[in-house]
Amino acid sequence: MTQLAETLTGPRMNAPAGANRLFAAGARASYRSHVSTYGSLNVAEIGPDLINQLDRSGLTGRGGAGFAVARKFGAMPQRRRSSLWQSSAVVIANGAEGEPRSLKDETLMRDSPHLVIDGLLAAAAAVHATTMYLYTTGTSLESVASAIAERRDASAIRLVEAPETFISGEASAVVNAIQTGAAVPTDRVARLTASGLKQRPTLVHNVETLAHVALIARYGSEWFRSAGTDRDPGTRLVTVSGAVARDRVLEVPGDVRIIDILTFCGATESTIAGVLVGGFHGAWLKREQLGVNLSNAALAPYGAQPGAGILYVLGVNRCGLQFSAEIVRYLARESARQCGPCMFGLPEMATLLERIASGDRDPRLAQELATLSESVIGRGSCHHPNGTSRLVMSTLSAFAEDAKAHLRGQCLRVETR
Ligand code: SF4
Repeated sequence: MTQLAETLTGPRMNAPAGANRLFAAGARASYRSHVSTYGSLNVAEIGPDLINQLDRSGLTGRGGAGFAVARKFGAMPQRRRSSLWQSSAVVIANGAEGEPRSLKDETLMRDSPHLVIDGLLAAAAAVHATTMYLYTTGTSLESVASAIAERRDASAIRLVEAPETFISGEASAVVNAIQTGAAVPTDRVARLTASGLKQRPTLVHNVETLAHVALIARYGSEWFRSAGTDRDPGTRLVTVSGAVARDRVLEVPGDVRIIDILTFCGATESTIAGVLVGGFHGAWLKREQLGVNLSNAALAPYGAQPGAGILYVLGVNRCGLQFSAEIVRYLARESARQCGPCMFGLPEMATLLERIASGDRDPRLAQELATLSESVIGRGSCHHPNGTSRLVMSTLSAFAEDAKAHLRGQCLRVETR
C-alpha cells in the first residue's frame, strides 16, 4: 500500500480480495452499498500522483486496443491547477459497446455504475478537467442516470447517448458524436489528448478502464497487481458466448487459461471448432491453442489480444469460413464509408470470403483475399480496415483445412443453425 492510496482513502478498507473486484458490491449496487463495500473516494485529494499509481499498476485499456492507461493520462498537458488551460480539459467515459458479442460494459453500468462514475471523477481530478461526459448506449442510460442522481458529487457529468453501431465507440467517433451528433471517426492529425472536443485536450477511456482507475485510486497499484501476472496484472471483464451453456460476463485475472474460462461456462473442449478472441476485430484460436492465458503477452504470438474481452465459441457443427464471412460482411456494412479501404476493400473482402465459404472452387480466391486484406492495412482514418484485415487473415489461417475441403467440394462441418 502506497502513501498515495492511504492519503486518498484513510485506512485501507474493504479492498476486495481475489478476482471479484468490479462486482463486489453486488448486482445493481446502490450508492450506499457501493460505499459500504469499497469505502468512499475523496476526489478532492486526487491529483497527478494518480498517474504514477496507474503507471506502477500496469493497467491497460479494457476497450480494445490495450494501450498503457498511464501513458494516455500522461499525454494530457500537465499544468498548474490555477491556469485557464485546465478548465478546458475534457474527460469522457466511453460506454459505447460497439462489439455485437460484448455485454461487459452494459453489465458493469447496470451493476456497478458508481465505480464508473468514481473513475470518471478521479480521472478528471488527475488531469484537472472540469468537463466530463459519460457516453453510452440507450440500454445503459437509465442506470447511469439513476446512479448520478443518487449522489451529490456527480452532477457535472453530462450524459450523451451513443448509437448502437460498430464504430460509435472509436475514440475520435466518440468526440465527433458529442461535438456534432455524428458518431463516425474523423481524420486526425493531432492526438485527442492535444486537440479533441472543440480543440480541447480530451481524455477518452472505456468505462471498465475507469472502474479499475477508481479502485487503484482507493487501494493503490500493489493491490491491483495482486491479481493477474507481472506482464498482464489485474482483472478484466470477459463476455463468453456461442457454444456455451449461456452467454456470461465474468471477471477474470490475467493468468487464467482460456480453456478454463470456457469450461467454467459449460463448453466441452471436444465440441469446439475454434474461439474468436477479442471480438470482430480479433483473431481465431484453434482448439489446440486454448491452453493459452487470456492476456496481451500470452496471446501476442497468436496475433491475438483480449481486445474488448470477447470469447466467442464456435461449435464443431458450424463452418468457421461461413461464420467469418458473415462477420466481414457486417463489418463492411458498419464502416463509415468515408475512406477508400472501407468503401471498396471491405465489401470485396466480404465477397471473396463468401465465395470461399459457399464452395466456389476457384483456387486463387484465398490468395486474392489475403493480398487484398494486406493492402487495406493502415489505409483508413481509423483502425476499422486493420481490424477487419486481422480477422480475415486469422480466418484463412485457423480454417485452412476447411478452405481446402471447400475446394474439393466438401465442408468439414455440418451446419445446424
Ligand atoms: S477507415 Fe472506414 S470506418 Fe474508419 S473512418 Fe475511414 S471509412 Fe470510416
